[in-house]
Amino acid sequence: MTQERLRTRDLTRDGAAELDARNPHADRRELFDLPDGMLYLCGNSLGALPTAVPDRVAEVVRGEWGAGLVGSWNSADWTHLSDRVAARLAPLLGVAATDVAVGDSTSVTLFKTMVAAARLRPGRSVLVVEPTTFPTDGYVAAGVAKTLGMELRWCDAANPTAALDDDVAVLALTHVDFRTGAMFDLPGITEAAHRAGALTLWDLCHSAGAVPVDLTGAGADFAVGCTYKYLNGGPGSPAFVWVAPEHQDAVEQPITGWWGHARPFDLALEFEPAPGVQRMTVGTPPVLGLSALEAALSVFDGLPMEELRAMSLSLTELFIALVDERLDGFEVLTPRDPDSRGSQVSLRHPEAYGIMQALIARGVVGDFRTPDVARFGLAPLYVRHVDVYDAVDHLVAVMEKGEHRDPAYARRNAVT
Ligand SMILES: *Cc1c(COP(=O)(O)O)cnc(C)c1O
Repeated sequence: MTQERLRTRDLTRDGAAELDARNPHADRRELFDLPDGMLYLCGNSLGALPTAVPDRVAEVVRGEWGAGLVGSWNSADWTHLSDRVAARLAPLLGVAATDVAVGDSTSVTLFKTMVAAARLRPGRSVLVVEPTTFPTDGYVAAGVAKTLGMELRWCDAANPTAALDDDVAVLALTHVDFRTGAMFDLPGITEAAHRAGALTLWDLCHSAGAVPVDLTGAGADFAVGCTYKYLNGGPGSPAFVWVAPEHQDAVEQPITGWWGHARPFDLALEFEPAPGVQRMTVGTPPVLGLSALEAALSVFDGLPMEELRAMSLSLTELFIALVDERLDGFEVLTPRDPDSRGSQVSLRHPEAYGIMQALIARGVVGDFRTPDVARFGLAPLYVRHVDVYDAVDHLVAVMEKGEHRDPAYARRNAVT
């Protein structure tokens, strides 16, 4: 749904309810355990709890761990748990399940993958990263550059391919920007990087589960992403990595742990990398986290990503239209062009911190990103158009009543 297609009626609460009534997947919201009285617009930071998770985790803890103990590696097939998770992730990423590995944190996965990518371009000495990305991506890139004796080059996020030249080994970009929700042209940039002889590493933290990604169609090289945002895997759930099939047997990642060995239980003296993407793994898989994630991903079963995308765009479109109509003094940072937008709306305002605190006090949970950005994540599986309407309504009330100027909000919490 494009912005022009929103009618005046859609900008009323009844109109928003009608948009929800026309959503063929509205019942997926029932697959989530959402606290009463809360408008949760923070699924881009920590996804909501799918109802399938608590029972599954309890079963794994009591049955598989408590009763089955070490035998569960075989009897509960813990050894292939990450493959089962990969199979559920693959359709969301436009890839084959056998090309995805899951298990470490995003930051660790970024490190492994960036080194592996750089090693495939041995004559080249530059890693390119955009300065507006989530800080860990830049910190890890700096660490990789130091480890490998490479140069870290910051590109202009408005034109990342301008930083490409014959020295660039890897262009590492975050597909959807965490602060603004702006989305890069993944296929176009991948092609430009390849023309310059560089490889691409895409961070999909703010795309996976919210925006269709077609890594295979784009001819991309590497991708990583977390699973606790739009994928709802729970706090600290394990990250994934995808390696294009043509790179898999050449790839050498730096943390050569036993789980990435060709035959871990031979307990051999020498490291021999496993074939395929399995060599990207390091140590014993996090069984509890993977079990929660496996259950959580069932909310996507049988859902075409284009339909999820249509739901997401309809929500962000409505949010932006309501802000335009009802609020002054806010700058919509998120691109208005739907093709350049992820699944969030970010508003800039000098008093954004106090505004977000006042909204949270009213049960509208978004978050604040320094210095002046209020972020609203619109997870399309459980956020409704009426929630968008109500959130903007609360925002209008906060501004009218000056609630954001409450002195209690002058002090910032550790997690904003
Ligand atoms: C959320 C996010 C991360 C998170 O990294 P962790 O190691 O899981 O803390 C990394 N990069 C980007 C772009 C993110 O949005």
